[in-house]
Amino acid sequence: MPIYDYTCGACAHEFEAFLRKQTDDVACPACQSGDVKRMLSTPQVHSAARKDRSMRAAKKRDKAQAQEAAYTQRQYELHHDD
Ligand SMILES: [Zn+2]
Repeated sequence: MPIYDYTCGACAHEFEAFLRKQTDDVACPACQSGDVKRMLSTPQVHSAARKDRSMRAAKKRDKAQAQEAAYTQRQYELHHDD
């Protein structure tokens, strides 16, 4: 579940809020004002999801390196086959 950072437009209080839906109304916990602005920070996701994403990125990188190695090997074989 993403957590967003907000700043209250009425009292400048900064707070974090869970958002189940993008359309959820968020009110300032200090003054109950609905005049809040979402900060332009990346939503904080569950650490497991973040780990999963970085692992996928690593696997993708490994695959690219493997393909490059296979290509290099193939080029070597093509040029040393005569
Ligand atoms: Zn406020």
